[in-house]
Amino acid sequence: MRRFLLLCLALLLPSLAQAQPADLVLWGGPIRTADDARPTAQAVAVRGGRIIHVGLRAQAAGLVGPKTQVVDLRGAALFPGFVDAHAHLRGIGERELTLNLEGTPSLAALVERVRAEVARTAPGGVIVGRGWIETAWPEKRFPTAADLDRVSPNNPVLLGRADGHALVANSAALRRAGVDGRTQAPSGGEILKDAAGRPAGMLIDNAMQLVAALQSRPTPEQAARAYETGGQVYARYGWTGVHNMGAPFEDLALIERLSAEGRLPIRVHNAVDQADLDKLIAAGPRRSADGRIVTRAVKLYADGALGSRGAALLEPYADAPASRGLLRLRREEALVFCARPRRPACRWPRTPSATGPTGWCWTGTPRR
Ligand SMILES: [Zn+2]
Repeated sequence: MRRFLLLCLALLLPSLAQAQPADLVLWGGPIRTADDARPTAQAVAVRGGRIIHVGLRAQAAGLVGPKTQVVDLRGAALFPGFVDAHAHLRGIGERELTLNLEGTPSLAALVERVRAEVARTAPGGVIVGRGWIETAWPEKRFPTAADLDRVSPNNPVLLGRADGHALVANSAALRRAGVDGRTQAPSGGEILKDAAGRPAGMLIDNAMQLVAALQSRPTPEQAARAYETGGQVYARYGWTGVHNMGAPFEDLALIERLSAEGRLPIRVHNAVDQADLDKLIAAGPRRSADGRIVTRAVKLYADGALGSRGAALLEPYADAPASRGLLRLRREEALVFCARPRRPACRWPRTPSATGPTGWCWTGTPRR
């Protein structure tokens, strides 16, 4: 057997040696292929941006020419590209292009960021930002309208939490949107109240819709810029692909065009918003000509996120005994979605966004 293998190798080597040299060869560490049939390899060779060899080092050596860059991994592991299984690409881009609050270390720092933004904004102009998360803040609490009012009494301010499931609005924003102590939160949403029963500023999940009209609708150019920027952020972190969890159907052609124009440096697997399921069913699953943009899933929002206490739990939250979270999609509504894919045209993955255990199961069997 061994002699046979050596013979095969001997037959292969001359052909590889005659092949065009690779641009890049990597070896010298464990190479994980993510291919169950051949889980590891000794070397990888790349030419023209494509992998041309995954296998034995001796074969890769035949692809090394005078201009080949050879990388010795020195024991470090090499993996195929990582793909983020859940992100909102456009939102990430919009975060970068508006008031980017990612990494804000404290509530005090958040307020200072808003103060600086007010100085740059026209009187009455709406300030939109996102990306803050209070988990590690020394203040150990959500921001409130009152916090923001101190630095922005007149400019409406809307600041989205990093999870995308909550925002804090200041009093000017709540006023302009007509939200007060009598406003009922929509189903699947919550308006946090202060001790006097007034809106405290935090709007959870579907309650964010109450202030949505304050933000101007992005132009197609702004949407393109947001996707492009989101893709650049992902590529910079080293991701090679992303499952984009919740794209309006009308954005699909835009995402595909950006990829065709070389402006989207990652692969994108889209799940359309649940409101657009009919459009996707009518149009069918799609794959861009370059194969990098695939759309064949729908995103359903079953409940909220844990951090903003919107995830639907069986028991009350330990730090909010009055709340067990929010169901954004009722069981009856969910079952409609679950029944539909029995039609052959829609046997596609449905992607539930169910964080808590009472979020229904998307296969159509509620857990309780
Ligand atoms: Zn999501």
